Amino acid sequence: NNSKKEEYDMLYKIVLIGDSGVGKSNLLSRFCRGEFHMESKPTIGVEFATKTIEISGTQIRAQIWDTAGQDRFRSITSVYYRGAMGALLVYDITKHPTFDNLDRWLKELQKFAESNIVVMLIGNKTDLESLRAITSDSGKKFAEENHLLFIETSAKDTINVDLAFNIILSEIFSLNS
Ligand code: GDP
Ligand code: MG
Repeated sequence: NNSKKEEYDMLYKIVLIGDSGVGKSNLLSRFCRGEFHMESKPTIGVEFATKTIEISGTQIRAQIWDTAGQDRFRSITSVYYRGAMGALLVYDITKHPTFDNLDRWLKELQKFAESNIVVMLIGNKTDLESLRAITSDSGKKFAEENHLLFIETSAKDTINVDLAFNIILSEIFSLNS
């Protein structure tokens, strides 16, 4: 029933950032709808999807924002980051340039996001182990140096996707309660 679906105690906005093609939209669709798409279908403008999970008896609604298009060359409006309590910064473990660009994304966060935003680094596409270009240790090291949470995922094989969202939402919850 609809009214029940609308019940939640907290609403947290989370933004997805990272280079084009790293799997942001598929992490979103896997988490919110249990869907994966082999074809990359470009998002039009900015979209968001929601999912409610329970943490310590509290209903937390995650409102997850996704952008499309040119990603690193698009002009990000501050609207995208406004009010965001968490950011998932995604790279593709098989594509070194997507890891090299993380510094750019952190600079953008510094510029547009609240200073207390919780950031989780995600190395996506672990199902492509034979094509791996970034070791888990390199990802972990970068995360430690920059005070980010870290996890590796596969949106395709449904590995660690729920866990990633649960960890960042729990962290936001504990910082705000
Ligand atoms: P975005 O541009 O960051 O939103 O990336 P998309 O979610 O559109 O994904 C880009 C491409 O990578 C698509 O062809 C997806 O099917 C593929 N992809 C996304 N996640 C994974 C994953 O975990 N494993 C594999 N093998 N491919 C993925
Ligand atoms: Mg996308």
